[in-house]
Amino acid sequence: MSNQSVEKYEFKADMKQLLHIIVHSLYTHPEIFLRELISNASDALNKLRIFRLTNSDIISPEEELKITIQLDKENSTFSIEDTGIGMTKDDLIYQLGTIASSGTLNFIQKLKEQKGQPDVNLIGQFGVGFYSVFMVTDEVTIETLYAESGSTAWKWVSNGTEDFLISPSDRNKRGTKISFKFKEEYKEFAEEWKIKEILNKYSNFVDFPIYIGNERVNKVEALWHKKKEEVSDEELFEFYKFIAGDYQQPLGHLFLNIEGNVNFKAILFIPQTPPNTLFGDLRDKTLHLYSNKVFIRDDDKDILPEYLRFVKGVVDSEDIPLNVSREVAQSSPAMAKIRNVLTTRILNLLEEWAQNDKEKYYKFYKNFGSIFKTGINTDFSNKNRIIELLRFETSSLPRGEMTSLKEYVSRMKPDQTEIYYISGPHLDIVEKNPNLEYFKKNNIEVLFLTDTIDIFTIPYVREYEGKALKSIEKADIKIESNSNDETKISQEQKDKLIAKFKQVLGDKVENVVPSSRLVDSPVTLVVGEQGLDPQLEKMMQVLDKDFTVSKRILEINLSHPIINNLLRKLENGNEALVNDAIHQLYEGALLIEGYMKNPVDFVKRMNRFIEEATKI
Ligand code: ADP
Ligand code: MG
Repeated sequence: MSNQSVEKYEFKADMKQLLHIIVHSLYTHPEIFLRELISNASDALNKLRIFRLTNSDIISPEEELKITIQLDKENSTFSIEDTGIGMTKDDLIYQLGTIASSGTLNFIQKLKEQKGQPDVNLIGQFGVGFYSVFMVTDEVTIETLYAESGSTAWKWVSNGTEDFLISPSDRNKRGTKISFKFKEEYKEFAEEWKIKEILNKYSNFVDFPIYIGNERVNKVEALWHKKKEEVSDEELFEFYKFIAGDYQQPLGHLFLNIEGNVNFKAILFIPQTPPNTLFGDLRDKTLHLYSNKVFIRDDDKDILPEYLRFVKGVVDSEDIPLNVSREVAQSSPAMAKIRNVLTTRILNLLEEWAQNDKEKYYKFYKNFGSIFKTGINTDFSNKNRIIELLRFETSSLPRGEMTSLKEYVSRMKPDQTEIYYISGPHLDIVEKNPNLEYFKKNNIEVLFLTDTIDIFTIPYVREYEGKALKSIEKADIKIESNSNDETKISQEQKDKLIAKFKQVLGDKVENVVPSSRLVDSPVTLVVGEQGLDPQLEKMMQVLDKDFTVSKRILEINLSHPIINNLLRKLENGNEALVNDAIHQLYEGALLIEGYMKNPVDFVKRMNRFIEEATKI
């Protein structure tokens, strides 16, 4: 091969950084390299399987799908070869030589945050796999031939620091061969027993034969095809780690063998904690779909509804035809049936936890509740079951304890006809909202909606056991006027005061009315009957810059000393002070609601008041 045909490519800056981190931080688990290479080979073989379904024009179509490892103890060399899809030149440059996925960038971020000893399990989770090989070697050679007939073979060489070289190769077999010599301190990996030990640990479930030389070493066992009783907890856990890239025991699992209307086998897991990729990352390939042990895909959006996407595992059904494109698989009637059965089984499991193992259920709810709740908006046939599974903190419960709607209703006072809630970004803020005062004083329980998603889902619940769900921040809730009957203000004075508020605030507010709900605060803002929940309005503002917040109704606490003092000042003709005070009260209420746009005037007025109060 002439030198002219060798092309040199620089790694990108972030790639160099990643390589550095991998080689220098993960050295405590060098054996990881093997898991990563096997998993890439297995991916490549899976890709070939799928490719073969739609393309007859491939190199050596009859060639066995397999992984072969060659070891040379004398020279400390290693190679791993697969008969998979192979790589084009572009693949070598763009798939292997750059950080393509957001997952990998997250990985780097995560490592930086962790500072100390990074968590090794992160590697597999974020798919930075291949480069872990540079932990154990100084130079890697890849020779690869893409499976499509007529493809050219390429050779890739790199020492994993600055750059890599690409040149034509004379490889004539489909697939990829990766070879290197172990660094002196890792020469043990060139020994067969060592490699076998690692394979046993990491790659037992790989669904392709793995050979060392001519000896087949893995069992190629699809756990889900065994009988439930024959699978030990350890095997299940190993399998879970393999599937989910997680290292903690799952919170729970289902082992299903369904026969009847639709036939399938499945092992599903609910993890303890969400992966870093919970929202949005499409690389979260942790629900594997098989058709009779033949892998179909691991990113299917239809085996489970969106709101159950925290579930990991494997689903295998002969009823899903293999030789079809994704679109057909999705609309296949078997798919819909499988989804229904799985959804029902998962809901059963969650109900059982909610009933019999509160701690487990809370743990689940804390970690996955936000996603789970969205089922209320999307899964009409199971809406009521999901509503029963909702849990809330409330104004009557100690922190950390939660209630179901059923329990809430059972505690309602005989004359209470509505279920009350208040929403806000955080418990500390919600608890101090002036609109709660009346409810606290009268021991009426209020649900705290502090999860952002609540405000999108709760309006869909509408009512529970015939009781409407109402935000206490709205004007139209039923409040007995009691406390404020004690006010000593005459009707005439009341009118005068309210007229003054209206005059000062003008069209800043929808209305000004005496309040029945305030106890300790002088004023509060509530939303008119037509308005949206305040928290929802805030979300809308984030989504849509042009969204205008509905005008608020200002409620005044006529028995509050400030209001009474104001009335006296007004009657004494102290207009300037009263005007300032009204603005101040109004903006103070805005501040509490999180709507204060410009604090400058507020602070100036406050300074005037302080100056007045501190005069000698
Ligand atoms: P990931 O497997 O998560 O994509 P890796 O770093 O392990 O990340 O691999 C990067 C990419 O290199 C793969 O996505 C694939 O495109 C390519 N690749 C690696 N090994 C092989 C292989 N044996 N056969 C074909 N392509 C491979
Ligand atoms: Mg990989």
